[in-house]
Amino acid sequence: MDGRTTGVDGNGFIARHGLWTDGQARRAREVKERVEAEGLHLIRLVWTDTHGIARARSLTPPAFEAALSNGHAIGAGSWSLDASGGRVFTSFVSGGGMGLREMTGSPNLVVVPDPDSFRTLPWAPGVGWVMCDDYFRDGTPFHFSPRHLLRRMLAKLADRGTAAVVGLEVEWYLLKLLDETLADENAGIGGERGRPPRTALLEPGFSYDSETNLDRMQPMLSILAQHYVDLGLGLRSVDNELGASQVECTFMPQPALDAAADFVLFRSATRQICRRHGHMASFMTVPGRRGLYPGGWHLHLSLVDAKTGANLLAPDRAEDHLSPLGRSFLAGQLDHAADGAVFATPTVNGYRRFRANSLAPDRATWNTDHRGVMLRIQGGPGDPATRIENRVGEPSANPYLFIAAQVAAGLDGLEREAEPWPADDDPYEADRPRLPASLGDALDALEGSSFYREAFGGVYLDYYLAMKRAELARYQAFLADSGADPAAGVTDWEVNEYFDAF
Ligand code: GLU
Ligand code: MG
Repeated sequence: MDGRTTGVDGNGFIARHGLWTDGQARRAREVKERVEAEGLHLIRLVWTDTHGIARARSLTPPAFEAALSNGHAIGAGSWSLDASGGRVFTSFVSGGGMGLREMTGSPNLVVVPDPDSFRTLPWAPGVGWVMCDDYFRDGTPFHFSPRHLLRRMLAKLADRGTAAVVGLEVEWYLLKLLDETLADENAGIGGERGRPPRTALLEPGFSYDSETNLDRMQPMLSILAQHYVDLGLGLRSVDNELGASQVECTFMPQPALDAAADFVLFRSATRQICRRHGHMASFMTVPGRRGLYPGGWHLHLSLVDAKTGANLLAPDRAEDHLSPLGRSFLAGQLDHAADGAVFATPTVNGYRRFRANSLAPDRATWNTDHRGVMLRIQGGPGDPATRIENRVGEPSANPYLFIAAQVAAGLDGLEREAEPWPADDDPYEADRPRLPASLGDALDALEGSSFYREAFGGVYLDYYLAMKRAELARYQAFLADSGADPAAGVTDWEVNEYFDAF
């Protein structure tokens, strides 16, 4: 629709605004050759919206070649829609319904491919894939881009000679698709998602690590594992989790920005591959079906010396859990557990997971190897894999925002040279700050946070709050209209909204 304007508006956009390093420019030339040599017919330009959903435009090779020099124009629409495709902002008035002059009229943005992220999609022959960064047409970074936000937080770490390394541990549901055909009731209209397709379990569940039941999922898991490897996703393990048809995937640690991009690709790829094989993957946290145990996304984060790569969290002495730097970072994460919770658990549904004596936290606690705490430290003296495992995240979180919020919180601890409170042996009884009990509480906590307003900027914070409040308002309207009792169990609205998302 608007690709043709790119050449006019953005001639030499990338070089003119200095948006690539020399290395990226070199790799862009390699990518161009690869597109030709492999005879690709379409290349998906992907960006990640506020909800963590991968959005894409697919370009033919000549258009892609132009995008490697000019970027590619997209409408700002995906930034004013909530996860149901409903409009949150009145874009066609001055200020775009956000009080921001630059957002008037849902203007064009320019997405710029990051050549380092280029790959071909093993399940879609002839199709390439590249992660992009979003810019305004004057070359300034787009202020709602979660990827730019994470970059900004990582730059602050870099100012201290430090880099963040992240390992992903994600739980999700692998189900057999019963209806390939979508009926009208499955269709969404902006602001109201349709019903997810009917699915069946592959294994009965509550069979944690059962080898026999793992095999019920093996045919699909083998296809997925091969594709993850082909995508270069750094897969480490694929396991049978506790719930029925619940899978856990873990990935090798890597630089934080790459881990965030890979999480987006992992989630999107898993859903695409499964669908092509008559299955469905769901990243909904609490699906509310018998046997489907809540799913978590555990974020394993360590800090390394930016030059040497040496782990900076490992303590010198066996009696210490973390280095002094690690203790301060952890203290910052604890202090901002409540006001930053919505970035880890951004859905209405996810708050059902925070229950006493479960495998998910309900308050800001920490310890070494203890699965009841929020921050679980693994490693020790001399262990290059020493890390803080944050167990608060849900699988449908936006990885850029979750990681950015954790880095910001940790940085605050570093700046204040904060000290954590003593480790928690009884985390569900400890007198520690409680995590918010609902999305509404989490949004209130964020709204009252001068810390995140400063760290993420007021423009971003107000935008994010408006987006999530719109989602919450739709849920509340459903409750009022239907009379459904949310305490009685997961509501139809949650299932429609989150089961078949991403
Ligand atoms: N499914 C649990 C959760 O809600 C985590 C299980 C585990 O410790 O791996 O986070
Ligand atoms: Mg697990």
